[in-house]
Amino acid sequence: MTETSSKKDKFALDSKYQGLDWNVWTELGQLYAAEGGVNLGQGFPDYQPAKEIVAELAKVCEAEDYSLHQYARAYGHPRLVKALASLYGGAIGRQIDPWTEILVTGGAYGALFYTVMSNVGRGDEVIIIEPYFDCYEPLVHLAGGKPVFIQLRQTEPGSSSSSTWVLDSEELRGAFNENTKAIIINTPNNPLGKVFSKQELTEIGDLCKKYNVMVISDEVYEWMIYDGNEHVRMASLEGMWERTVTIGSAGKTFSLTGWKLGWAYGPKNLLRNLQVAHENCTYMCHTPEQEAVGAALEHELTLLTSEKSFFRRIREELTRKREFWKNAVLQSGMTPIVPQGGYFMLVDWASLGPKPDLSTEQGYEDVKFVKWLAKNWKLHGIPPSAFLSTRNKNNLGSRCL
Ligand code: PMP
Repeated sequence: MTETSSKKDKFALDSKYQGLDWNVWTELGQLYAAEGGVNLGQGFPDYQPAKEIVAELAKVCEAEDYSLHQYARAYGHPRLVKALASLYGGAIGRQIDPWTEILVTGGAYGALFYTVMSNVGRGDEVIIIEPYFDCYEPLVHLAGGKPVFIQLRQTEPGSSSSSTWVLDSEELRGAFNENTKAIIINTPNNPLGKVFSKQELTEIGDLCKKYNVMVISDEVYEWMIYDGNEHVRMASLEGMWERTVTIGSAGKTFSLTGWKLGWAYGPKNLLRNLQVAHENCTYMCHTPEQEAVGAALEHELTLLTSEKSFFRRIREELTRKREFWKNAVLQSGMTPIVPQGGYFMLVDWASLGPKPDLSTEQGYEDVKFVKWLAKNWKLHGIPPSAFLSTRNKNNLGSRCL
């Protein structure tokens, strides 16, 4: 081996990250930067967030209180954790201890990272439901665990509602065994917009109790629920609090994804694991944002049942936008899968005619189509193959977000 090549090997990406060096958001983010246009795929709201929330951050900057610019309490700024404890305590009907049962993190991503790293070990199996938010799989690999995939399948082909995508009970049961450590649930689901019903969650929960499995419940779109659907929290089901870590995001909740502030809540013993991971990583999150989000949530708590509730307003506003986009998609000749919740809409472009010429693009069919759409129409989506395991990447290949 020459000196140069051995140096090269020594400084190569460490083996734990091998195979994880391509990221859909990074590649398509670069395409967006190069092409410009409208970014529909990345949770990138193109309007100012609600004034009352931004005003809270301005207040922090103007306040005399210098402590709001210094390190915060490691597990979460008191004003924020207290507001979160009230909010979620009310939502799941139990008292939540703000000091031991909540952790504030760098976005929901941070909470997912800590949850998986501190609970999943070598050889542990983690059930992931396809299509899934793309970071779940690499996180499980990084932790030394083994992803076990099960699929949401469209039970009524041609139906345009995300509600017709369901799990097969037998496939679900078959995924559990004594090596199963956790299952990751995402409701409302990104990218489908499916909202899991109480019955579906109960079926999953019962298996978790039977096999002593924890639930990682990613609920970042918890307030974006349409058409009278109900957001059911896994942690609120009987016997599930003890084994569930629930994850939320201020960025998603208040349409300010650049604030990158999130959290996890759950029983003290599970949260303690996350706290240890956090203490040995970034240790704490931005104080000014925590103060601002805490104040905004305190305000929201006084409005929850009123017309002025921010959560209600966002639901109404996104329902209008969903209708607008659905009609635009239909007019273009494509078929929308209308989401029951969440930020995104899966669109089937198989019905598009005349067929676009994708011969100059590289990758899975949907990746090619997304690139073609960006270059020719300045519309940026995310290919659903990014949300599927390798074995299934071609299955939704005729569709794009
Ligand atoms: N979970 C899901 C399902 C998401 O869609 C996202 C962001 N797109 C996240 C977690 C990460 O959220 P955050 O920006 O708060 O890290």
